[in-house]
Amino acid sequence: MATTNDVSNGMTEPCEVCERDTLHDVSVQLVTEGGEGKNARYSREPYRVRECLRCGNRDSQRMNNA
Ligand SMILES: [Zn+2]
Repeated sequence: MATTNDVSNGMTEPCEVCERDTLHDVSVQLVTEGGEGKNARYSREPYRVRECLRCGNRDSQRMNNA
């Protein structure tokens, strides 16, 4: 099962859990954000969500650092 030379689907990225580069399923999701105040504006921010196909670890990272 250890294929190292063919990346057809997904991206190879470092995984914190595996502590090595693994294939990841990467997608972008819009996450609704908003404060709890009355005047908070709700906005949909793109998050880059990736899931390690080896261990299943998921993490997301906000793409806009505003
Ligand atoms: Zn992993």
